[in-house]
Amino acid sequence: MKNSLSLEDIYNLAYNTLTKGGSCSEQAEAVAQTILSAEQDGSVSHGLFRLPGYFNSLKSGKVNLNPNPSLHKVTKAVLKCDGDRSFAPLIHKLYLNELIKSTKEIGIGVLSIQRVAHFASLWPETETLADNGLIGIACTSYLPVVSPFGASEKLFGTNPISFAWPRKNDHPVVFDMATSSLALGDVQIAARDGHELPVGTGIDANGNATTDPNQVLKGMLLPFGGYKGSHLSMMIELLAGPLVGETTSDITEENNIDDGGPPLGGQFILAMSPEIISGLDDWDKNAEPFINKLSNLKGVRMPGKRRHINRTSLENIEVNSDLLNKIYSL
Ligand code: NDP
Repeated sequence: MKNSLSLEDIYNLAYNTLTKGGSCSEQAEAVAQTILSAEQDGSVSHGLFRLPGYFNSLKSGKVNLNPNPSLHKVTKAVLKCDGDRSFAPLIHKLYLNELIKSTKEIGIGVLSIQRVAHFASLWPETETLADNGLIGIACTSYLPVVSPFGASEKLFGTNPISFAWPRKNDHPVVFDMATSSLALGDVQIAARDGHELPVGTGIDANGNATTDPNQVLKGMLLPFGGYKGSHLSMMIELLAGPLVGETTSDITEENNIDDGGPPLGGQFILAMSPEIISGLDDWDKNAEPFINKLSNLKGVRMPGKRRHINRTSLENIEVNSDLLNKIYSL
């Protein structure tokens, strides 16, 4: 069963639930906007579906109700942020502009974030950079739910990475993906809706292949693309953990309050100026023909396009009724 909600209803539901959970309004606004954007783009696993988790992390005290994050400009290129146990969208709202400003000046910049709870998609941050004419790469780690290739033991998070390439006269090219075969939220939704998972998504607690989402939730996910996805996931553990002064997923779990919400950890965001790095005003002269050729190949669907098309719709969004009842009960 589904209920139809307007974009305004979704924003208000998210904002009111978060403030009921005790969040200050600035943080609630940032998270509600992220939830609304996910629903509008059709990214169901990172919209309202995450709201009970956000609420629980406010209630458990893991996430600060009224955080006081800070930014330290270590060098012109390295901006270091202490999230003060806030939700990540607040940090993006406060500090992405600083990253954009310094990257436009010197060509490259890193926003290194500690003590933040990331429970969302990553395209909002990379797309913001690309909308400002910069290339963006962002990644974050999670809790250990993925077995490295060859093992049958959890060590990696679902570890998403997003990349955005700016275009002067079009939406940026953006991909945003978990390095696990499937995002955990999608496995949880499949379990809720009684769907089987594609072969190769995960293994049960004994290391046997299974397409049953409940068995994968008790067991573990696999990386996408075998050992190659496994290596990418390892890279993200190191970039979003030790590089930003934070823990890897296994240690994050040891310190985590298991309240159903996101753990506290790090995020790595890299911004690059195509003008300054290429040394060309028309830095896109070789990129545009390539992107056009790629998009016009028969069978190719450009990443981000689905979301950009969804975003133009002002129609109501269909939301799972059980989820809505769960949110209302909060
Ligand atoms: P998908 O597998 O759905 O999509 C991955 C990327 O591939 C997207 O950019 C998507 O573009 C594109 N794509 C999807 N289908 C096709 C296709 N048929 N042909 C070409 N391109 C395609 O994403 P995931 O399930 O891996 O991840 C979902 C979300 O979960 C991400 O936003 C990620 O950031 C988030 N996540 C967050 C975590 C966290 O800890 N915060 C942890 C793990 C995941 P498009 O967007 O246009 O569909």
